[in-house]
Amino acid sequence: MLKTKEILDEKDKRLRVKSKDVEFPLKKEDKELIDTMIEYLHNSQIDELAEKYDLRPGMGLSAIQLGVAKRYFVVVNEIGEGEFETYVLINPKMISNSMEQIYVTDGEGCLSVNRPVEGIIPRYARVTMEAYDMEGRKIHVRAREELSVCFQHELDHLNGILFTDHIDPKNPYKGQDSMRAI
Ligand code: ZN
Repeated sequence: MLKTKEILDEKDKRLRVKSKDVEFPLKKEDKELIDTMIEYLHNSQIDELAEKYDLRPGMGLSAIQLGVAKRYFVVVNEIGEGEFETYVLINPKMISNSMEQIYVTDGEGCLSVNRPVEGIIPRYARVTMEAYDMEGRKIHVRAREELSVCFQHELDHLNGILFTDHIDPKNPYKGQDSMRAI
C-alpha cells in the first residue's frame, strides 16, 4: 500500500519534468501503479482508513508524484457519503473550456505540497478532457466546479507545473474580482 511519505515533495526536481505519452497496451507496471493510486486516494478520503494508515487525504494524483514521468493521473471524487467515482485519464488533453473562471476559496491542496500556501488560482469552471482509458480507448470527460479544478491541477503536474506556480507571492489574490469563488 502506498504511503503518504512516498509521494514526492515539491522540493523534488522530478516534479518539474514534463511527463511523456504512454503507449498501448498499457504495461503491467503502469496498471499496478494506477491501481495503487486509486487505492490511496479512495482510502485517504475515508476517515477511519486515513487515520489507520496515516494517509493525507487527496482527490487527485499524477504518476509523476510517484516519480514516474508518464502522462496519466487518477482522480477519486466523493459524490455522496462513502460513494466515489474514479477517473483514470491517460495521455489527457484539454480540448475545450468555459470562458468563466473560478477559484477554490480555501486554496488548492496538493499531496506534494506539505505547507500552507496563501493565494488563489484561476481555473476554468468547466472543461472537456480527451484522454485514453486503461484499455486504450479514447474517452471524453466533462467536468465542472471542483472536479474541473482537479483535472486542471493534475494536467499541470504532467507538464511539471505545481499550483503554487500560479500564485503571485506579491499579490496572492490577484484577479479575485473577475472569478467566481467555489
Ligand atoms: Zn498536486
